Amino acid sequence: SIQWHLVRRPVGEPTGEDIVRVEAELPPLANGEVRVRNEFLSVDPYMRGRMNDMRSYIPPFVLGEVMTGGAVGTVVASRAEGLSVGDVVVHDLGWRDVSQADAREFRPARVPDGLPSSLALSVLGVTGFTAWIGLKLVAGLREGDVVFVSGAAGAVGSMVGQLARLMGASRVVGSAGTAEKVGLLTERYGFDAGFDYTEGGIARSLRSAAPDGIDVYFDNVGGEHLEAALRSFNDGGRAALCGAISVYNATSDPGVKYLSNVITRGLTLSGFTIVNYWSHLPAFAADMRGWLADGLITWDETVVDGIDATFDAFTGVMNGANIGKMIVRL
Ligand code: NDP
Repeated sequence: SIQWHLVRRPVGEPTGEDIVRVEAELPPLANGEVRVRNEFLSVDPYMRGRMNDMRSYIPPFVLGEVMTGGAVGTVVASRAEGLSVGDVVVHDLGWRDVSQADAREFRPARVPDGLPSSLALSVLGVTGFTAWIGLKLVAGLREGDVVFVSGAAGAVGSMVGQLARLMGASRVVGSAGTAEKVGLLTERYGFDAGFDYTEGGIARSLRSAAPDGIDVYFDNVGGEHLEAALRSFNDGGRAALCGAISVYNATSDPGVKYLSNVITRGLTLSGFTIVNYWSHLPAFAADMRGWLADGLITWDETVVDGIDATFDAFTGVMNGANIGKMIVRL
């Protein structure tokens, strides 16, 4: 089996000397185990945090072991009850072409007929769930809110824009890193306005995209984007702090300006990780399946082919090579 291991903790941007491709022999299948041929692997920005040895909401990756993370595949051998050859399953065993483990490590993918099983890693999986939790339970989106989303053409961001609309936002604006992505925000994902954060100042662009201010900010990026939101907030505004990709490779904390607006405008900034919300998964799945069946959700994937390209796909998602969810197809 081919796997990717973390062999050194990166400083700054990860390199091919930190994460390496390894060939490993699989032991015979033990009682209670299944073997799964993976079809899609997830590469995600949160994985950058797990490469560091520090306290966080999930333990760091173990040096010399496989990069774990979401994957979808088909059972090719089973010595376990309840899982049979041909079943499509999702799991967290990560960057490898074949996963073999106790059957309890695998869950049925349950993607509706006619849709690709990769959606178990995106729209119907972690990234869709993150958008839903952040808007509904963390930001407490209300009818009529003006919503701003950063990283808006990415996997989470493109869902946030659409879900904000479905949940009653009056105006949804987003930012992304290329003109092509900004075009997609309004043409494909239902945003009212978008801007390219690499052109002109972020604070000024946000003010012209949302001239009456914002009520909710869904933050995927941190840094200057968060500062711009703090300046554009109306009184009582709420931020769901989901990610801060602009500082994931930073070697020191760059700090945040305009925090005093939290006091003067009565703002609420709530950080969250979905690991504290698993009990809401059935409610999310019911909502998302309904919206998908009604044709209300548009999604994109950027697909990179082959297990050998996994590390490059990861650096790609960190650097904006993706539209929608970055996926490795085996
Ligand atoms: P995306 O699909 O959004 O991919 C990451 C995107 O970040 C890139 O496409 C790039 O788009 C953008 N980006 C990279 N560098 C910068 C920068 N310096 N400034 C602004 N944008 C940048 O990834 P996900 O949807 O998987 O994740 C989005 C965010 O959500 C991440 O911060 C992630 O850590 C977080 N997350 C949090 C979870 C939680 O439980 N709290 C769960 C899942 C994800 P562009 O071209 O626009 O720059």
